[in-house]
Amino acid sequence: MKLVTRTQLGWPASAAPTQTSTKGVKVHYEGTPVSTRLLADHDACLAEWQAIRKSHLANTTENYSDVAYNYAACPHGYLLEGRGIGKRTGANGNQELNIAHYAIVGLVGDEGLTEPTDAMLAAIRDGIDLLRRNGAGTEIRGHRDGYATACPGPALYAWVQKGAPRPTSLEEDDVPLTDADAEKVAVATVNKLLKGGALETSDVDRIAKAVAARPATLTDAQVQALATNPALAEAIAEKVAVKLAERLAK
Ligand SMILES: [Zn+2]
Ligand SMILES: [Zn+2]
Repeated sequence: MKLVTRTQLGWPASAAPTQTSTKGVKVHYEGTPVSTRLLADHDACLAEWQAIRKSHLANTTENYSDVAYNYAACPHGYLLEGRGIGKRTGANGNQELNIAHYAIVGLVGDEGLTEPTDAMLAAIRDGIDLLRRNGAGTEIRGHRDGYATACPGPALYAWVQKGAPRPTSLEEDDVPLTDADAEKVAVATVNKLLKGGALETSDVDRIAKAVAARPATLTDAQVQALATNPALAEAIAEKVAVKLAERLAK
């Protein structure tokens, strides 16, 4: 996962209302012309995301406290933080729909850049998986489900209807994890486990990968909590050791 945080975007903490769980995630598109220049220039993606937030903050009809989406995904596979984890979206059409699902927007529109890249689909999937580790249920829907809109456009909607599969060329482990991502991923995954969430093999892999990328990721309290589950701690330690050895060998 290649996450660009609010801090990196220069934004303060989101003032959006708290929403710690939902039935799932709804996928959106911009619904306006989007320049194909984004494909060749990731700075243009960041500028686009800044502009979306600015336009939402200027929208007096909706009276938004922040950009309406929880995350955006760009053609280069970056997941751009919006309201983020634990926040109600403002994007789904009305309050009832906003309470029911989080929202992720793909930076494609109804003209110009209309087709998501595989990297964008992988980033949307990263966002769905991250939200699932933090209270989102398993539903994956389009904005148009339950609301009269063309959003998220034909290409993204067709993908949503297939269950939003991760492109096979971009399995999660193939995408390099930055240090900033590593911390968020490890903390989110461990916290889910500590709350009694079901342990999946991918969770162990994820923590191991994050800890190997950034050994000081976990707090003492989290390490202590993991120690109460020796099997889990051992599995993680083993995988971390393998990953560290791989890094040293390079
Ligand atoms: Zn939408
Ligand atoms: Zn980009």
